[in-house]
Amino acid sequence: MKNRFTILGCGSSLGSPWITNFKGNLKKNIKNIRTRCCAHIQKGNLSVLIDTSPDIKYQFLKNKIRNLDSIIYTHEHADQTAGIFEMRPFYWQNKSKIPIYGSRRTIKALKKSYSFCFVEKQGYKPIMKAKIINKDFSIKKNNTKLSIKAFDVNHGLIQSTGYVMEKIAYISDCNKIPQKNLKYLNNLNYLILDCLKINKHPSHFNLDEALSLINLTKPKKAILTNLHTDLDYFEIKKKLPKNITPAYDGLSFEY
Ligand SMILES: [Zn+2]
Repeated sequence: MKNRFTILGCGSSLGSPWITNFKGNLKKNIKNIRTRCCAHIQKGNLSVLIDTSPDIKYQFLKNKIRNLDSIIYTHEHADQTAGIFEMRPFYWQNKSKIPIYGSRRTIKALKKSYSFCFVEKQGYKPIMKAKIINKDFSIKKNNTKLSIKAFDVNHGLIQSTGYVMEKIAYISDCNKIPQKNLKYLNNLNYLILDCLKINKHPSHFNLDEALSLINLTKPKKAILTNLHTDLDYFEIKKKLPKNITPAYDGLSFEY
């Protein structure tokens, strides 16, 4: 199997359009139909998911992902976690609990909100085992090993986790990266970065802030994600340099 990274969803917390069919400034185009943020990395036969969005079942079916070995969580917000319940078939398929990885605070919040995944409830078996991450950790399957660096980033009033693996950084929810953690963004092939809106926002980078971080860290390529309804794919793309692109659902690359 080829090594591949896929943006399963690139929309902000309500996706686009919203449930009310609100579309903001978005023109009618498939690249402006956005499910909630999460991503998938395939390394050899190892299949790892980053976050379980409320759209996860549709995202797996659309991208033909049939196996899952582990899940990494960026933080506990509902748009990154609410699809956790959909993971049960992988527990049955793997015949073992699905390992999930996250910071101490994220794991604590997941165990509180989704206790049925971790302890037996009303006769239903738990489907997950939680692992609190260190700065460096790895996920292994047979001879395949995915090495991951994890670091805190500011996301409004909480901290979410940024991840770097295979020279790809994934930072979907962030309004500031602490100075001491900028070193993790050196020499990247891809920087996948939060870019919520044109206007400033207290919990997310806006377009100007995302572009200045890209300018500072100089990845070979950058992909903007967590896009709100004021960021039309084609409008933004034509203004960006060639090595920076807005994400769209299903954007994937071999690495
Ligand atoms: Zn969030």
